[in-house]
Amino acid sequence: TISQATPALSTSPDELEDLDRRHLIHPLLSGGSTDRCVIVRGKGSTVWDARGNELLDMTGAGNWLAQVGHGRVELGEVMAEQVGRLSYFTSFSEFSNDQSIQLAKRLSTLAPEGFNRVLYTSGGSEAVDMAIKAVRLYHSRRGEPDRTWIISRQMGYHGSTYGGGSATGFDFVHHGVGPTLPHVRKVSPPFPFHPEMYGGEPITDFLVRELEQTIEEIGPGRVAAMIGEPVMGGGGVVEPPPDYWPRVREVLSRHGILLIADEVVTGYGRTGSWFASPERGMAPDVITTAKGITSGYAPLGAALMRDEIGDVVGGGDGFLHGFTYCGHPVGCAVALANLDIIEKEGLVPRSLLIGKWLRQGLAPAAELPAVGEVRVTGATVGIELVANRTTREPMPPPVASSVVKELQQAHGVIARAYGPVVVMAPPLVLEEGEAARAAEATVEVLSRLGTDGTLNS
Ligand code: PMP
Repeated sequence: TISQATPALSTSPDELEDLDRRHLIHPLLSGGSTDRCVIVRGKGSTVWDARGNELLDMTGAGNWLAQVGHGRVELGEVMAEQVGRLSYFTSFSEFSNDQSIQLAKRLSTLAPEGFNRVLYTSGGSEAVDMAIKAVRLYHSRRGEPDRTWIISRQMGYHGSTYGGGSATGFDFVHHGVGPTLPHVRKVSPPFPFHPEMYGGEPITDFLVRELEQTIEEIGPGRVAAMIGEPVMGGGGVVEPPPDYWPRVREVLSRHGILLIADEVVTGYGRTGSWFASPERGMAPDVITTAKGITSGYAPLGAALMRDEIGDVVGGGDGFLHGFTYCGHPVGCAVALANLDIIEKEGLVPRSLLIGKWLRQGLAPAAELPAVGEVRVTGATVGIELVANRTTREPMPPPVASSVVKELQQAHGVIARAYGPVVVMAPPLVLEEGEAARAAEATVEVLSRLGTDGTLNS
């Protein structure tokens, strides 16, 4: 049996934190920061740190996942059983394994109609890299080798590898590590909270015109694909206007350009459906996924392909792009068991219920002087902090970080800061009382936030 008890630490919390400071590089922590919080146990939507503090996880393990919640011993048992049968074997060539086959079949029933092909990865960035190469290869094999350009969007997040990272619309991530992948062009994002970005024009009209112009500039026969999140996650939980994706899709189709829906965050129930792209009229050709596919119990990602694309990419001489851990049997076994739980416990519709509780609980926050807007999409929340509600001037990013820190210290609630936005993406097992507690704590902290960015005590 697998233990659920708080582990008896052989190293004291102080020592653990000290060792961490000495040996670990945390990718998003500035070098000067001494802050550390070592998580040692989790159950449902609660986690405990090494010092014994109980914390409500409103972030999906800090990274938009943990759909089925923490501490699901049954998933550990599935993994242990799979290791006992087969821990790993390559699926590069003629070899395969039963778990990756079963998962591929299962994914084809959850994905939109006609998505019957999958390429596995170890995570989301790799899935985006796969997708970028796959769309280029598709065009090349069909006699259009010049279609190499990828269009992505400012504020979009697509990972940290050179491919996914280059498509990511935050330039600061490239400082000191360039040059990025060539043939990637960014267009403006749909961001209804900032209509001034569109010079008074209706948002979608502006963006469609900009997209047409961009395609014209690059040359319509040179663009391979556009990539976008159905709802921007890392950009601050931003839902596009309803006509945005259908009109973008129409432009792309007219020019023979493919569309990659990056559903690494939105997939597997996060926004109230298995995938967010179909109901937003995206009609993608490739869907990249990770995170919720295993709820984080094992590293796994997948690029799902429409049959026509998959047939071309998987045909010819093969793709010649594979990771050792493609279709890892332990990852695939735990993904299957995780998807069973999501289905049996109704966690996909439950994310809408969680969104409803959070929307109700956070309603008072929307009236506060330093809050511009509270956005809720499925079980995902973005609270936009502003220095001025009339001009919508964004709060400097350190302010959202200080709000998140205070939420944890004063109320034991974990949220995350993305620029000026406080973000929540809790496990889909969050209970009504927990949602109320998180919302109440958030309103309390935000009620102490002045428009000058100071938190009063
Ligand atoms: N795409 C999106 C939309 C993401 O949010 C992320 C990660 N947050 C990624 C890709 C990258 O996934 P990973 O960190 O698993 O490589």
